[in-house]
Amino acid sequence: MNHVVLWSLAAATALTALPAAAADRVIYVQPLSPAPGPKVTDAVEKGLRATFPVQVRWLPAVPLPKVAFFAPRRRWRAEKLLVYLAPLLPKDGAKILGLTSADISTTNGDVPDWGILGLGSLDGKACVLSTYRSRRGVPVRVALERVAKVAVHEVGHTFGLEHCPNPGCLMQDAGGKVKTVDEEHALCPKCRAQLKAAGVEVPGGRRVPWRHVD
Ligand SMILES: [Zn+2]
Ligand SMILES: [Zn+2]
Repeated sequence: MNHVVLWSLAAATALTALPAAAADRVIYVQPLSPAPGPKVTDAVEKGLRATFPVQVRWLPAVPLPKVAFFAPRRRWRAEKLLVYLAPLLPKDGAKILGLTSADISTTNGDVPDWGILGLGSLDGKACVLSTYRSRRGVPVRVALERVAKVAVHEVGHTFGLEHCPNPGCLMQDAGGKVKTVDEEHALCPKCRAQLKAAGVEVPGGRRVPWRHVD
């Protein structure tokens, strides 16, 4: 309980001067080569910092691990990437987010290899996102917003949030359609309440594109 109180104080004051008790709220981003460029990394960091009371730190890029390569479709299995990523989380970090521009996939019901935007372990340490499906056929601005939203969505899973039925909530299931993401704008009150109960205070009213974050 002390921890929650200390954390709330920290979030209300300055994210750059976190006390030791809040140091577990660091999200590390692990670029997995081929990894996206600075516009994407900037959007991901802004989205995460605007939504969660966290610090974002970047790890040096590493290649996508061969163990996750799915040769028949020439893409990478996201659940294997999560297993690979979890041990890479530094001791002072709470979560690790893998970021790649390569296509990623996982099993979805009857579909053995289904291309996805991202995957996060529920109430776990690791999540991963790919820009591959966000960038096609839309202006760069839209693609960047999509990527930032997916980052929030996947990190949301690691904070214990499941898919949410509320329209416009960032935790909605994209259902295989990237356009669903374009209709999502913020974490809904129900998801924010669940995070708060878990000790993660998320302010309301913060809608993408999060222009207030510098
Ligand atoms: Zn999801
Ligand atoms: Zn929700």
